Amino acid sequence: MKDCIFCNIDSTRIIAENELCFAIRDAFPVTDRHTLVLPKRHVSDYFDLHQPERNAIEAMLHDQREKILKEDPTVTGFNVGINAGASAGQTVFHVHVHLIPRRDGDVVDPRGGVRGVIPSKQRY
Ligand code: 5GP
Ligand code: ZN
Repeated sequence: MKDCIFCNIDSTRIIAENELCFAIRDAFPVTDRHTLVLPKRHVSDYFDLHQPERNAIEAMLHDQREKILKEDPTVTGFNVGINAGASAGQTVFHVHVHLIPRRDGDVVDPRGGVRGVIPSKQRY
């Protein structure tokens, strides 16, 4: 799509690809090696993906996780997340799955993880 930053990403930014999706490093990483996995087809909303695209993305997430763990032994966990819709925080409307490596001690208290989308509800 003409005006989509992810459809027009410089090919040198692509760190891996398969038939239906590709992976890049996030330009504004939350943690070191923060990776995005995206379908090659321009689709805005995760829930509009075709099942083969979901399967390709899932396979790529596993591959990238393995690579990150091999490259960086300090990684001890991951957050995997999709912002679906502006209300949920999506800012780039080409589906992308965030793969965010986590390390023991990278925040004082990580409990609740993705529950932190509503900061006051992160802890329960
Ligand atoms: P969203 O808020 O839509 O879930 O996430 C958009 C993500 O895309 C953000 O994490 C942001 O840092 C990342 N991003 C924005 N522009 C670029 C870019 O030009 N290149 C890459 N690699 N990531 C980008
Ligand atoms: Zn696009």
